Amino acid sequence: MTLRTILTIPDPRLKKVCAPVIAFDETLRILSDDLLETMYAAPGIGLAASQIGVLLRVLVMDCDKQSESPNPKVLVNPEITWYSSEKRVYEEGCLSIPETFAEVSRSETVKVSYKGLTGEDNEEIFTDLWSTCVQHEIDHLDGKLFIDYLGAVKRGLIVNKMKKLKREKIKDQKQNKKTKGSP
Ligand code: ZN
Repeated sequence: MTLRTILTIPDPRLKKVCAPVIAFDETLRILSDDLLETMYAAPGIGLAASQIGVLLRVLVMDCDKQSESPNPKVLVNPEITWYSSEKRVYEEGCLSIPETFAEVSRSETVKVSYKGLTGEDNEEIFTDLWSTCVQHEIDHLDGKLFIDYLGAVKRGLIVNKMKKLKREKIKDQKQNKKTKGSP
């Protein structure tokens, strides 16, 4: 298993629509292992393949409380086949948009059909936090971020904050190199 780098906005790969998985092979198994390891290390409760720069329709989740034993789920080519009319508002965050949280309203329960690692068909009902998470992650596979649900002004402020953070990080790295290089 390999810890992968999580892309942050405004990386253009986060806006891409991911392609369905066709080959249920060893490469897919390695991708899902890497996604899970990277998600648990972050730590996060969900991670989509596009967040590590792999533009395939694969996501992983584990929304159980940290004290409980791990309950990892891998969803390949997931599709929401039913949305409850009851909504749930949750203050969402995203590993690709660090230190940013905002309330998003989504269906409280959804039914999702997806494939497993060996290509088998699955159908599952997700509710509460699992439902919020699976909808958030499937959005990633369509190049959509939770800040896209916010107004343009709020979204613009968040994107600008992230750009500034990235610039500062690069500046810090350059300065560190200089210090290390000097006698
Ligand atoms: Zn996210």
